[in-house]
Amino acid sequence: MQARHILVINCGSSSIKFALIHEAHSQTFLSGEAQNLGTYDAELHWRRGPEHDSLMIPNADHRAALSQLLPIVQGACGGKLHGIGHRVVHGGERFSAARRIDPQVLAEIKATAHLAPLHNPANLLGIEATLKQFPNLPQVAVFDTAFHHSLPEYAFRYALPEQLYRDHGIRRYGFHGTSHRYVSARAAEMSNLPIEDSSWLSAHLGNGCSTCAVVNGQSRDTSMGLTPLEGVVMGTRSGDVDPNLHSHLAMALGWDIEKIDYMLNHDAGLLGLSGLSNDMRTLEQAHHDGHEGATLAIEVFCYRLAKSLAAMSCALPRLDGLIFTGGIGENSPLIRAKTVAHLRLLNLQLDDEANERYIRGLSGTIHAYGHPRVLVIPTNEERQIALDTLQLLH
Ligand code: AMP
Repeated sequence: MQARHILVINCGSSSIKFALIHEAHSQTFLSGEAQNLGTYDAELHWRRGPEHDSLMIPNADHRAALSQLLPIVQGACGGKLHGIGHRVVHGGERFSAARRIDPQVLAEIKATAHLAPLHNPANLLGIEATLKQFPNLPQVAVFDTAFHHSLPEYAFRYALPEQLYRDHGIRRYGFHGTSHRYVSARAAEMSNLPIEDSSWLSAHLGNGCSTCAVVNGQSRDTSMGLTPLEGVVMGTRSGDVDPNLHSHLAMALGWDIEKIDYMLNHDAGLLGLSGLSNDMRTLEQAHHDGHEGATLAIEVFCYRLAKSLAAMSCALPRLDGLIFTGGIGENSPLIRAKTVAHLRLLNLQLDDEANERYIRGLSGTIHAYGHPRVLVIPTNEERQIALDTLQLLH
C-alpha cells in the first residue's frame, strides 16, 4: 500500500498549529502555525525542511486560515493527503480512545466542552472549520485525556460528595496522555522490554507539566486532575495549592473567583515564584547569575516534581525506568539532576556526563551504572496523533 500523509491540527482560540506527518518517516514534513486569528495581524508561518516562510492574512478566521493552508499542505504531500487528526484536550468520561469524527462524535465533544471551557471550544472551532474546508477527508479526534481512562477509581475520584461525581463529572481526568503514551512506548522499545509487561514513571515538562505512572502500556495514575492546573509546578500554573486558598483570598483580600482563577493559571508557577519568567532557559541563566527568585523557582519546581514522581511510584509494581520529556525534560540537565537527587529512596542516580550529553532532540539513557533506568525521550505528540488517525482509517 502507498505510504500515507496525515495533517495534524491543534487549534487554540486564535491559533492553529499544524504538522504534516508521513507514516513511514519519523521527521515532520511540514509544520507551522497560524497566529492572531480574527485580528488584523493574523499571520501564517510554516517550515518545510530547512525552509521557512510566512504570509500575512489580515482578519482571517480559522476557516480562512485553513483555506490558505490547504494548497501549502497539498503542495508538500503531492496532493495526497489521507486524513486529518485533531488534538482535542478534554474527552471527559465519554472518550477512552481516538474516534473518527461524525455528527454524533461532534455532538459528544460539544457536550464535554463545559469540562474544558478554555480549550474544547477552540478545538471545536478548528474541527468545524476543517470539516467545511475538507469535507471529503476522514477526520479523527485524539483526546489528551483518553490515555488516562485506565486509572482505577481510587486514583481518579476526589474525596468529595458522590453526587458531584455522579451528576457533574467532578473527578480526575489527567492530560498530556498522548505524550505519556508515546514516550512510554518508546522507552519500552529502547529498553527491549515488551510494553505489555513494563512499568514507567513519566515526567512531561513543558510549559504545562505532569507526571504519570504507566503500567503495561496503561496509565495508572497522573498528576493533573479535573483541569490541567492540578499537580506539579508549571510555567505560569501553580500546580497543587491548599484548596482553601480560594476562600482565604476571597475573605482576606476580597478577590473574586475570576481574579483567583487568572492568578493560579497565568501569574503563578515558575513566573510567580521567580518574579522573572515562566521560561526555564531564562531562569537557569538568571540562577547562574545569582538571581534569588530564579533559584527558588528551580528548587521548588524540582522538589515538587520529585514528590509527585515518588507519589506516582505507588501505582507501579516495579520501576523499569523514569522518563524525562517535554522542552525542559529533553533539554535541561540541571532540572533532571536536581529532581533525581531528591529520589534516592527509589535508588535513582544519574551518570553526570550522560545527563549533560542528552539535549536538543537526542534520546538515550542517563542513569549511573547499577541504578534504575532514567531515559531522555523527545516527545512527538503530532506523530502519535497521526498514528492514531491512521489506525482509524483502516
Ligand atoms: P514545551 O512546552 O515542551 O515547548 O517546553 C517549553 C519549556 O521548555 C520552556 O520552559 C523552555 O524554557 C524549556 N526549554 C526549552 N529549551 C530549554 C533548554 N535548553 N534548557 C532549559 N529549558 C528549556
